[in-house]
Amino acid sequence: MQAQAQMPDLSLPCPFEREVILAEKSYYRIGGRTRFFALPDTVRHIGDLLLWNREHRLPLVVMGSGSNMLFSDEPFPGVVISMERMNRMFWLSPDELFCEAGVENTAIAAELLEKGRSGGEWLHLLPGCIGSTIRMNARCFGGEVAAVTASVAVMDLGGRIRWVPGDDVFLGYKQTSLMESREIVLAAVLRFCCSKPSPEIRKAMDCHEKERHDRHHFDFPSCGSTFKNNYDAGRSSGMIFEELGFKGCREGDAKVSEHHANFIFNTGRASSGDVLALAARMRRAAREKAGVDLDLEVECTGLFPGDVLDACGVPYVPAISPECRGWAGLLWSPGEHVHERGAANGFPRTLLQGYLTGYSGKDLVFPPDIGVHVEQLLPLADAAENPGYPFLQWTTLARSGALAGSRVVQKQPGGIPGDFTDGLWNHPVSELFIGSGGAGAGYLEFEMRPSGDWVALRFSGPRMRDPVSGALSAALWEESVQRFLCREGGFGMTFSFGLLRPLIEHGVLSLQCAASLGNECFGLFPWWHPDAEKTDFHQPGRFFRLALR
Ligand SMILES: Cc1cc2nc3c(=O)[nH]c(=O)nc-3n(C[C@H](O)[C@H](O)[C@H](O)COP(=O)(O)OP(=O)(O)OC[C@H]3O[C@@H](n4cnc5c(N)ncnc54)[C@H](O)[C@@H]3O)c2cc1C
Repeated sequence: MQAQAQMPDLSLPCPFEREVILAEKSYYRIGGRTRFFALPDTVRHIGDLLLWNREHRLPLVVMGSGSNMLFSDEPFPGVVISMERMNRMFWLSPDELFCEAGVENTAIAAELLEKGRSGGEWLHLLPGCIGSTIRMNARCFGGEVAAVTASVAVMDLGGRIRWVPGDDVFLGYKQTSLMESREIVLAAVLRFCCSKPSPEIRKAMDCHEKERHDRHHFDFPSCGSTFKNNYDAGRSSGMIFEELGFKGCREGDAKVSEHHANFIFNTGRASSGDVLALAARMRRAAREKAGVDLDLEVECTGLFPGDVLDACGVPYVPAISPECRGWAGLLWSPGEHVHERGAANGFPRTLLQGYLTGYSGKDLVFPPDIGVHVEQLLPLADAAENPGYPFLQWTTLARSGALAGSRVVQKQPGGIPGDFTDGLWNHPVSELFIGSGGAGAGYLEFEMRPSGDWVALRFSGPRMRDPVSGALSAALWEESVQRFLCREGGFGMTFSFGLLRPLIEHGVLSLQCAASLGNECFGLFPWWHPDAEKTDFHQPGRFFRLALR
């Protein structure tokens, strides 16, 4: 406690609480105090938090409902990011449900019941939120989240966002790419193609509810199954532990369920040490007496004795101090580099890639196939030496033709077609805003249509057109902006480093992709929270801040 009192009084760039007892937040009712408990309610908040932590380097972890996390009893000297306020859910089409990561599984099942959509009955009373359920590839009663997930929006530790097809996320039984990549799930599009009368859906949900109660799942706090199944064993982990006589075994207040030998209950004041001591005994017995190797399903989170983690087969990052301890289950552990993985390390480097979502505040159905991709083409150091080179590339793909329109295109011989036109926003148009992140700061706006028509505007503050570029003219932008049209119907622009340099502060740039279809129909990527009162993209303080390299 004394050491903590001496720490500087930091403040997080999003809603948060200090000194929160994790036992009060987790299903298991186990866990020490965390220095910070962050409660982001926008994508921007999460990005800002990750940027902030590049500087402060505190241990970092993300949680949903904590129904699969065993927190250490030791104080956690970092930030626990709770996704509970990221809980927006709406239909993109009759089959496709957009859910932010913090939407509870049971709430999704209730939504499906209301709309008469089948395929998610099994989510009813599955503890947890959809983001973590995807991360765990959870399954029960013949349902598996992999089977209903069309795509997943993820953010890496560098704050970059992309939508990933479900097939690239799910790797098999209780395995996902997210376990390795340590990306944060922001949202998902779930697909439910089958309709059914609501009474039939209700019946299936009631059946699952009864089964969970009959199996005494909720008698005491737990994390559900402690170990994954090993399918080579030919029987479930629960059956193996039952054969080995573990039902009712205890370690302190941690006790193996009398009804399901793979559940370890907290029957009172069990510590994480009690649970892991019991789990270690079970794992050893499974190996020595039944010849079966089992992996823990429960995610140990925080600082634990290394020998305990070893006994449970949990990977960890050795702590520098105190020795013999290890950090487990974190997005980032002290001593680790904030790394980016694989091909993402090179250039061009994706900063944002995804689909526009109906503007917040109105659950408008926005065509789900308007995609944008913003890439950094050169490292900052190279760009500084070549300020005239293209540095940032913005591409829009609109397969449905939603951005097409009746505007007459003037062909310029030899060049890319399209006029430089004021008032382009009266037509369906894709837009990119580039700022420095300050709420009252200046920013640039680019608009472009599949026809090649475009406009570029400079603002000195929200909706305040800069008098210097008040005269609209392509000539002002000729040296720093290049347009392109792609064969697949995409279109976009590149921007030189020289143009953007004044907006880059400490290596950070703010971006906001938008599109207007007319008829008050707007889309955004990254999306905002529905607290926005009116559809106004010109809020540079809400653009998404990204670290360049
Ligand atoms: C009584 C009981 C019964 C259960 N029955 C089942 C069952 O039948 N089938 C089954 O599969 N599971 C079951 N579980 C386990 C649990 O319900 C699932 O694993 C659930 O998906 C976890 O959701 P959560 O929000 O509580 O995740 P958490 O416990 O909060 O997190 C789980 C993991 O995901 C990470 N995480 C959290 N949010 C994110 C995010 N947004 N992005 C990336 N990573 C994230 C965490 O760091 C942690 O590593 C049961 C649990 C209990 C308590």
